[in-house]
Amino acid sequence: MATPLSADRLLKALRGEGLRVVEVRSWRTHNRNHKGAWGPVNGVMIHHTVTRGDTAKQTLASVELCYNGHSSLPGPLCHGVIAKDGTVYLVSAGRANHAGSGDDDVHQAVVNESATLPADNEANTDGNRHFYGFEAINLGDGKDPWPDAQLEAIEKAAAAICRAHGWSHRSVIGHLEWQPGKVDPRGFGMDWMRGRIKERLAPAPQPKPAPAPAPAPSEETDMPVNWSLATDTPQTVPAAKWTTIPISRTDLLTGATHYTASVHLTIEDPVPLGTVQGRFVHVRPDGSRWTGPIVERMTTGGASFMDFPHAGSVEPTEKVRFEVIYYPGNNDSPTPGPITAARVRGLYWK
Ligand SMILES: [Zn+2]
Repeated sequence: MATPLSADRLLKALRGEGLRVVEVRSWRTHNRNHKGAWGPVNGVMIHHTVTRGDTAKQTLASVELCYNGHSSLPGPLCHGVIAKDGTVYLVSAGRANHAGSGDDDVHQAVVNESATLPADNEANTDGNRHFYGFEAINLGDGKDPWPDAQLEAIEKAAAAICRAHGWSHRSVIGHLEWQPGKVDPRGFGMDWMRGRIKERLAPAPQPKPAPAPAPAPSEETDMPVNWSLATDTPQTVPAAKWTTIPISRTDLLTGATHYTASVHLTIEDPVPLGTVQGRFVHVRPDGSRWTGPIVERMTTGGASFMDFPHAGSVEPTEKVRFEVIYYPGNNDSPTPGPITAARVRGLYWK
């Protein structure tokens, strides 16, 4: 529960997060407050515009659409429009026509900042009353790219509002998590974006104690060995089954005592929106296994590139392997595209 930010405080919060902000005409007084309540506010909702924003002209047309709306949906259609270059165009500081009716259970979960969101299977709650809305310019076809600058601006805009209200990343949802039938934002996962917002909101790390002076290199055995393997043989991964990924060989490493590594995967189009998890596995001579922490990545709908880092200790007799599991998204076929390239790079010590 919170009183909505004034126009001044909204602007200050966004600029304070390091965003480039453009104030569009009468954004301070341009709203739908005559049609319903604005507040108490409980969260931030992310959308895509279903418009292009590759040129300045297209960007301005998208901003105009969000300011004015159209015959069946009067504007403002959000509070801020986030362009591909990361600029935020403010079009409203009041009630805006972006969220529509959504699920009361989701609303309650946002109010409670619950760890998980229930399914959005009801449309019984006025979202325009309770949510700030950001429209990111993207066609939402799974192919229109999401530049880093734009993703960073989404992270910053959501974090700015959470910071101003004292909310956590769990107060940020996607339209698709609110209203049945909505798919936006499409092209990145909201769990992933919430993870970024969480990191941004985390208190600055305490300064580390000064490192101990590095011991003089003495024995050759202290020297790390470079380790680099790659393959571009396509490999198909079944859905929902941990599968070992050979990278030119199944056992990526043996004879090491510890190692650092990053596996880089390229997964080709067509990829349904989904989740890929990866983990390193140590296989002992008796066949028993140690499995490392799971790292989760979202597929983007187009070609996806993902990194899985790990650093671990290992017995020289153990074999280091890498496994992935694929969970399909909810709106496409359960067959993932093939992994078309894989490589591992790192260092190991004997
Ligand atoms: Zn939307």
